[in-house]
Amino acid sequence: MASKMPAARDANNNRITISMAEQRQYQKPLICEFCDTSVGFVNAFTRNVGEDIVAIDPYFRLSKEHKHSATCRYNVQGQVTVIAQESEGDIFAALQGNRYELRLLAVKRAVEQLREIANKKRNPDSEANTGANEKIYVEAEKRLGAYVNSALRVLKVRAACIEHAEIEDVLQLVFDGVRLPWCDFYFEDDEYFRCFSQVNQATIRVPIAINGTVKNISIVRRQTGNLSVMDLVRPYRKTDQAAVLDAACFSIWSPDPNAFQTYKKEEKILAFGLWESRGVKESTNKKAGSPIKTFRNHELRLWPVTKSQLCAVKS
Ligand SMILES: [Zn+2]
Repeated sequence: MASKMPAARDANNNRITISMAEQRQYQKPLICEFCDTSVGFVNAFTRNVGEDIVAIDPYFRLSKEHKHSATCRYNVQGQVTVIAQESEGDIFAALQGNRYELRLLAVKRAVEQLREIANKKRNPDSEANTGANEKIYVEAEKRLGAYVNSALRVLKVRAACIEHAEIEDVLQLVFDGVRLPWCDFYFEDDEYFRCFSQVNQATIRVPIAINGTVKNISIVRRQTGNLSVMDLVRPYRKTDQAAVLDAACFSIWSPDPNAFQTYKKEEKILAFGLWESRGVKESTNKKAGSPIKTFRNHELRLWPVTKSQLCAVKS
C-alpha cells in the first residue's frame, strides 16, 4: 500500500528530489524518505487522450513486494486512519482491523443540504436571511462543508495511488448499506465511457469522483447570467462507423464567474459529487478534411455546491 512520492533518499542518505533523479544525481539503491523501504524512480511520460496529449509527471514509487513502515507518512493505511479520526459526523465508520468505511449516503446528503441552503440564501425573502436563522445556516454550511472536505481528503490519497487495490482494503465504500467497489466510484480518463454508462443508467444518484485533466476553462453567456465551465480532456472511442467517433465530454459548471480561476489548462484535477448525465448528442466535426465527420458526445456535468468538491492533484 503506497502512494506516489515526490522525493526519496539514496545510498548516502541524501534527499533526492524528482529533478535530481531525472539527472541521475544519486547513488543506488533508493529508499523511502521517511522509512527504509525500497523505492524506484518512474520517469515522466505522455499519453494520448482524444485529441490531447496528457503528461504524467515523474514520481518515486514503492518497489514491488515492499511496504512502508506503519508510521511512514506514505503508508496509505496510516493516511486514511488520520483522516477518518479527524473527520466529524458519520461520514466514516471504523471497521475491525484498522479499516474504515466511507459512507457515501452521508456525503450525498451533505451535498444536497448544502444545495438547499445555497438556494434559500439566494432568495431574499427566505427565512435563511433573517437574523437568528442566518447563524444557523452558516453553522450548517460549515459542518456540511467539513464532511465533504473529509471525503475529498481520502480521494486525494486515492489519486496519489497507482491502483484501486492500494486503498480498497483500507477504505470500503458503502452507499445506503450496500458495498460499492472503488472501480464504480473513482474514474480516470481510461474509464470515462464506463462511468458515463453507469451514471446514465443509474436510478439512484450516487456521488462519484472523476480524475481528469483540464482541457479548457471558459465563460458561457446565458440570458440568466454568465456561467463558468471547465471542460476535461475528452477520451475518444471508435464506433462501427469510420466517420463517427464517440467522445466522453465531462465538464464542471458554476454560476460564479470566478469559480475556476485557481485552475489552469493541463492541470490534473479531482471533481467529486453528484454528476449528472446529459445523454448522448451528436455534433459535426468542425475540422475540415478530417476523416471523422461526427462526434457522438457522451456528456456528464457536475455543478459543485462547495469548493471542497474540487481540487488539483498530481498526475
Ligand atoms: Zn515509507
